[in-house]
Amino acid sequence: MATYDFAVIGAGVSGASVAYELQNEASVVLIEAEAQPGYHSTGRSAALYTPNFGPSVVRRLNAAGRRFFEEPPEGFAETPLLSPRGALTIFKTDDEAPIAALLANGTARDPIHRISVAEALRLAPVLRPEAVGAACFEPGVTDMDVAAIHQGFLRGFRQRGGTLRRAQPVTALVRVDGEWRLTAGDEEIRAATVVNAAGAWGDVLGRMAGARPVGLVPKRRTALVTEGPDGLDLHAMPLVEFAGDAPYLKPDGGRLMASLADETPVEPQDAQPDDMDIAVLVDWLESHTHVTVRKAPRTWAGLRSFVADKNPVVGFDPEQPGLFWLVGQGGYGIMMSPTLARIAAALATGRRLPADIAAAGIDPADLAPDRCRA
Ligand SMILES: Cc1cc2nc3c(=O)[nH]c(=O)nc-3n(C[C@H](O)[C@H](O)[C@H](O)COP(=O)(O)OP(=O)(O)OC[C@H]3O[C@@H](n4cnc5c(N)ncnc54)[C@H](O)[C@@H]3O)c2cc1C
Repeated sequence: MATYDFAVIGAGVSGASVAYELQNEASVVLIEAEAQPGYHSTGRSAALYTPNFGPSVVRRLNAAGRRFFEEPPEGFAETPLLSPRGALTIFKTDDEAPIAALLANGTARDPIHRISVAEALRLAPVLRPEAVGAACFEPGVTDMDVAAIHQGFLRGFRQRGGTLRRAQPVTALVRVDGEWRLTAGDEEIRAATVVNAAGAWGDVLGRMAGARPVGLVPKRRTALVTEGPDGLDLHAMPLVEFAGDAPYLKPDGGRLMASLADETPVEPQDAQPDDMDIAVLVDWLESHTHVTVRKAPRTWAGLRSFVADKNPVVGFDPEQPGLFWLVGQGGYGIMMSPTLARIAAALATGRRLPADIAAAGIDPADLAPDRCRA
């Protein structure tokens, strides 16, 4: 039976990135249920780096990870991981309170500016003028090359000598004589520590290991890609968000991606778009932009999995020895991945947080699994 220091379960961006970090100092097997790592949430994101988005802990994690994306390790990727996009936030009216609240989210590094309605329509001519009451612009939002990031972690992991198992769902986890015995497909594996990076299935896997759940709720989000209006070059258009958890859209090559920004709680699953959600999204697009959805658009749905405080869960389970959690990445898991992986590798091997991450004001207590059970 093959024996490893760590068995990382789930090869989305979370599992791939922590396996990449751990393999530097330990033997690691990375186990994925699907034939294609990234088949679930990692392959279904909006691919945005949004530094002023999410709870304050998430923002600090993202700020600490930007350097990795801007200057990745030698050989990590052949293309830039971030590329300029910018984000326009549209308000229906010029009511000052919500605009001031958004502007207050800006930082010296990533400011948010108020801009005129005319400027907003110049930046995003796809918008119907009557949909725009006021606007703000955040230049620091970028696109992320998610495939390059995910493949960079997987390739680096293998180059460091790591073992990847695909199409091998973990179906049993038993702790015997201070180590784990895993059943993964038809293979039996031994490991001292299990890292639970199972995305939406985090609590399913935790229960399999005999742990109490952390209260993970997978929330479905729906998206489509369609043609833009004839004659409009969309390549340079910013992300366009409507204030108040409303739908958003961004260029996708020469086409347009739009999401309903829905958050429907569901069981862990291979998420599929609901016909009614797509109909609502198409109606919203046609009433707020000059887009007419003629042909059936490409549609999909993905899961964003949160615990109650919307911070990620990273750390050893205090009640189940040898079980390490790396779940609850919500809608921020790609951009947090370099920093969360370094935090997880440090804590899982009994080290302190890396100095730059501690200096960014990140406290392991904000991420600890037991906070979710209080
Ligand atoms: C519509 C949408 C838009 C988003 N936009 C952004 C964005 O702009 N920026 C951003 O940073 N994030 C975004 N996100 C969030 C981001 O996609 C997720 O936070 C991230 O992909 C989570 O990665 P993960 O590896 O934890 O999960 P996953 O990618 O789901 O990986 C978990 C893996 O575990 C495997 N697994 C589960 N159980 C087992 C088992 N028993 N045995 C073996 N394997 C198992 C699964 O097959 C799966 O591949 C978005 C998400 C959605 C859905």
